[in-house]
Amino acid sequence: MVVATNSFPGSNGTTFSPNDILDLEKGDPLVFGAYWKKMSEVCTVVIKGWELMSYLSDAKNVCWFMLSEFGDAVRRLHHLVGNAVIQERYIVVGTGATQLSQAAIYALSSHSEAPQPINVVAAAPYYSEYPSEINVLRSKLYQWAGDAALYKKNEPYIEVVTSPNNPDGVIRQPVVKSEADGKLVYDLAYYWPHYTPITHQADHDIMIFTFSKCTGHAGSRIGWAIVKDIEVAKKMTWYVHMSSIGVSKESQTRAAKIIGVICDGYQNIGSIESELFFEYSKRILRERWEKLRKVIEQTKVLTAAKYPTFYCNFTNESSESYPGFLWLKCDESIEDCTSYLMEKLKIRARAGQRFGVGPKYARLSTIGTEDEFNELLERLSNAD
Ligand code: PMP
Repeated sequence: MVVATNSFPGSNGTTFSPNDILDLEKGDPLVFGAYWKKMSEVCTVVIKGWELMSYLSDAKNVCWFMLSEFGDAVRRLHHLVGNAVIQERYIVVGTGATQLSQAAIYALSSHSEAPQPINVVAAAPYYSEYPSEINVLRSKLYQWAGDAALYKKNEPYIEVVTSPNNPDGVIRQPVVKSEADGKLVYDLAYYWPHYTPITHQADHDIMIFTFSKCTGHAGSRIGWAIVKDIEVAKKMTWYVHMSSIGVSKESQTRAAKIIGVICDGYQNIGSIESELFFEYSKRILRERWEKLRKVIEQTKVLTAAKYPTFYCNFTNESSESYPGFLWLKCDESIEDCTSYLMEKLKIRARAGQRFGVGPKYARLSTIGTEDEFNELLERLSNAD
């Protein structure tokens, strides 16, 4: 058996000296590492040398490279959580939500006979990677067209609706007002009970989820799309075929196992003694947010939005959202929030401009390791 060597991502005793830069620019979701370490035995997957060798998984499925155990696990998880309609829907597995959002945009634009590429928009502040993901190949099918709220053209468009939104955690609806033919892609990476109350079963034509933000296993590079229309599912499958001839079966196997462990816990299968995953992860994020709010309230120059309280159908309690990012706004005395954080506090943040808004805003990750998070609290307490 090969044991993957990887540093343990919880509190590993990392100490920061005041001159070290605290890098919270990325959204590496290591926060749940401590949980998975406790569960390490039941989550272990052994793959023998001769197994999983074929490109093919299930020739009868539209998504022919998807392992049936992975598809079953995804269906089981959505049944359990109640965050998305999954009956009579197609599932397309991808190498992360990153590949699937491109697959979705390809699928929705590939039939186009328009002389111009279709405009792809998202409301600002939008997920910072969309513009580059969409423009990387300078496609003739689609092009990035910026802030959806400003879209006024009478030309076909695709709006990406990210809800809860990255960077600001807000629950969103489509915003384009144009009369033109528009299509929607929902990026629901954070529509899980630890980040936000599950108020309804989402039921959109294309909904994208990712293992990265659901359980924190970003390194497995697994995402899935729930798709209503078979032709769209076929085209998305074709895109993944063309870009990577499928998705790692090792990763699918691991994801299916871990999702199975989460569901078993809720359905009392086996004897899992630890706290259930979403209870644990919500508790940790809530504790982090309570501490963050306290430090931010004490600063004069930084503010963070408050989130409304909703009843969560999954956890059966009312709560606010606990997003994976802290979206900070600096007051008038500070021109550039990112430079302030770096120069004054030695914290590396992602600048508002990357999300299509001004330099008064900056994003910090709240889902890093415990050591990083504690250091963040310490440094924020030194803000003016
Ligand atoms: N969409 C959103 C809104 C995200 O925040 C992220 C990850 N930061 C992704 C997509 C990409 O996820 P993945 O790791 O599955 O490619």
